[in-house]
Amino acid sequence: MITIQRTQVAIIGAGPSGTVAAALLHQQGIDVVVLEKNLFPRFSIGESLLPACMEVLKKANMEAAVNAASFQFKDGAAFRRNGAYTCFNFTEKFTAGAGTTFQVQRAQFDKVLADEAATQGVEIRYQHTLTAIDMADDTSTLTVVDADLQTYQIEADFVLDASGFGRVLPRLLSLEEPSCLPARKAIFTHVVDHIDTTVPANSDYDRNKILISVHPRE
Ligand SMILES: Cc1cc2nc3c(=O)[nH]c(=O)nc-3n(C[C@H](O)[C@H](O)[C@H](O)COP(=O)(O)OP(=O)(O)OC[C@H]3O[C@@H](n4cnc5c(N)ncnc54)[C@H](O)[C@@H]3O)c2cc1C
Repeated sequence: MITIQRTQVAIIGAGPSGTVAAALLHQQGIDVVVLEKNLFPRFSIGESLLPACMEVLKKANMEAAVNAASFQFKDGAAFRRNGAYTCFNFTEKFTAGAGTTFQVQRAQFDKVLADEAATQGVEIRYQHTLTAIDMADDTSTLTVVDADLQTYQIEADFVLDASGFGRVLPRLLSLEEPSCLPARKAIFTHVVDHIDTTVPANSDYDRNKILISVHPRE
């Protein structure tokens, strides 16, 4: 017989959106369970934060944990194209709030946020995969397979799909539509730049700014 559990909010995915949302809901006394199919740390792409992210992290009481994690400090962005160079300082802005942020490795960053949410009291179930959902008017029934390949169900008043690239609800509910936009491709890798800033020609190189370069053969 399949066990049926209950929660007010079930969140699919323990990436940044899932764990921040869970922490914010938990702060308000809402009963929340996060289902995460992987074990953390796990690889994810998307490492460049903007200062506005710090405001969200502050609301979720996660700012101190992120500040303590020794990520690469970032105070702006620099652009280089065919020898032309310009840069922007995030602190030179007209709105209130943080003016600096970090460049992060997502495996570590996502784990810091998830661990902080758990420290605050959020229940995160790793290696629990949502495999099916039945949505009714007042409640949704989620079918979940755990790390021991046991199946159970959770009834939730509200379901938040934070599955990112997993696109779990659109897939399960056949909501996916072909995009009308032209296909794009991104190539991702980590590099060691070997830029020696003690050499005079490189002395204006600012490691506190993300550098965005346009390939000379664009
Ligand atoms: C090339 C590239 C570069 C990018 N660069 C940036 C950048 O510089 N800055 C930036 O902010 N964003 C960037 N992004 C976007 C960024 O990667 C995403 O917006 C971000 O990862 C989304 O986070 P999330 O928390 O919504 O989901 P994710 O981080 O994708 O987390 C979703 C989680 O859901 C879990 N999951 C999936 N299916 C299930 C299931 N069935 N049951 C349970 N759990 C499940 C997954 O295991 C995963 O841990 C980039 C994206 C690409 C492709």
